[in-house]
Amino acid sequence: MKQVILLGASGSIGVQTIDVIEQHPDEFELVAFSVGKRIQIVRDVLAKMDVKEVCVMNKEDADALSLEYPNVHFTYGDEGLIHLASLDKGDIVVNALLGFAGLIPTLTAIVHKKDIALANKETLVAGGMFVKEAISKHGVNLYPIDSEHSAIFQCLQGNPHKSIKRLIITASGGSFRDKTRAELEGVSVKQALSHPNWSMGAKITIDSASMMNKGLEVIEAHWLFDLPFSKIDTIMHRESVIHSMVEYEDTAVMAQLGTPDMRLPIQYALTYPSRLPLASEPLDLLKLSTLHFEPLSFERFPLLKLAYEVGEKGGNLPAIMNGANEAAVAMFLEEKISFLEIEEYVHKAVHDLEFIAHPTLEEVIASDKKARAYVIQCVKGA
Ligand code: MG
Repeated sequence: MKQVILLGASGSIGVQTIDVIEQHPDEFELVAFSVGKRIQIVRDVLAKMDVKEVCVMNKEDADALSLEYPNVHFTYGDEGLIHLASLDKGDIVVNALLGFAGLIPTLTAIVHKKDIALANKETLVAGGMFVKEAISKHGVNLYPIDSEHSAIFQCLQGNPHKSIKRLIITASGGSFRDKTRAELEGVSVKQALSHPNWSMGAKITIDSASMMNKGLEVIEAHWLFDLPFSKIDTIMHRESVIHSMVEYEDTAVMAQLGTPDMRLPIQYALTYPSRLPLASEPLDLLKLSTLHFEPLSFERFPLLKLAYEVGEKGGNLPAIMNGANEAAVAMFLEEKISFLEIEEYVHKAVHDLEFIAHPTLEEVIASDKKARAYVIQCVKGA
């Protein structure tokens, strides 16, 4: 029995993680979870699983739920997340938190000798160097849940790292893939939120439309697979059937294919190196007519270009870029700025804020805060 701690049970990945656990009651036991704003998820999960540790967002909810479930220990906020990450029990922590908030709980779980199944790419983007260092120091494993990185991880099995020629990360292109830059003027939140292939949370759907998501994934791949940026390529692949590829020195290209269902990467991160059955739509090859591939233009998607530059420079810049993007996306979702202003403010923050080549963890946390504050201040002043 593998004991699972799930951080972020109420988001899209969290709900699907619960589904995977439910499909394999003899393999996995959920021992703790946290939720964001959707408190009802707590009741839904507790109705079907015997979990004794739950973290919610605020004290009021924790107090109210404690009365409702006297046998469950409720904690709240950042301290609650750290409490869950430090529990004596729990073999693996599924980090499905949103954004930079996932970094400290990840580092805490590593120190407490728990393996990490990571859906929270912002953790690696902003604090990759600290995560890698902690992982080797404490001897735990880090498994990707992001579909592209899970695909690459699967394609790497049994092959020597030194023979990798390049990674090819596929991108569906997001909700605006057929729009020119001129046509992006004045697009609405609703338009941005309708992704052609994947059903995901709001933040990542906007990031897919701006191609920031692919940029974050390039940096994520750099840390996960120990490869320079020159060996990480991206390509547009509309069908989202090939989830990513690895090309080797002998020209062999390994690809992982499947229907777009996040439960496979979630399950593989939990069962690695084993594979278990999964109640999911199988890929029907005969229904696939053609697979399309197109270049991803840096002119059309400037945030992808920026991510390569920022990743290459390193230091606190990825944290600045990520923090600015999180703030800008939140303001776009609140209809305070336009879609194209997201990239404008992200560029501005990366350009204007102080670069630190070798930041401490505290400096990375401060850079994230500064980037958010800077974007908010620029919007107010505009
Ligand atoms: Mg992805």
